[in-house]
Amino acid sequence: MRFLLVVVVLLLAACQDDSPNTKSINMYNGSGDMVGTATLTEQPDGVKIKLKLEGLTPGFHGIHVHEYPKCEGPDFKTAGNHLNPEGKEHGLMHPKGPHLGDLPNIEVESDGTVDAELMLQGATLHDGKKSILKEDGTSLIVDAGQDDGVSQPSGNSGERLICGEIRVDKKGSNTETPTDPTELNEKQKQE
Ligand SMILES: [Zn+2]
Repeated sequence: MRFLLVVVVLLLAACQDDSPNTKSINMYNGSGDMVGTATLTEQPDGVKIKLKLEGLTPGFHGIHVHEYPKCEGPDFKTAGNHLNPEGKEHGLMHPKGPHLGDLPNIEVESDGTVDAELMLQGATLHDGKKSILKEDGTSLIVDAGQDDGVSQPSGNSGERLICGEIRVDKKGSNTETPTDPTELNEKQKQE
């Protein structure tokens, strides 16, 4: 019984440490090819998104954080709508906006690449109403066209082209070291 208590305490301690300040995700096109990465970093005023992509058409593209961490191509409808925990209207320029998941357009270079830094204002990687890692997580999607910043429900920015899942890391996926003491305890109990 005492051993079990120790295990529970250790598990609780591990959970509390699981509040990342940075998170990297892979981005995929509708055919499932990896086309870049996004690195999310917790900041005082929101989450900074460092984006590196290739294979896009040059020009402006809308980009948004969506409700569910589910990128199933080719249309990525599985990701749901723009993340909107406060029931606002779409658009950074809308007087009753924006959605928490709304971001400024990105500009793709003539060679089809983009290397940009965006700020998701007010969002957090930690717990809370404005978390982008609550429940299972969310996703980051780049659209075919430019977000006009006011049209409902998504700025008239066209089809979804590229998607990356912002997923909560599952507990116990790194089972090697942490379970060793547990296994030892289990053996001792049996003997
Ligand atoms: Zn929106």
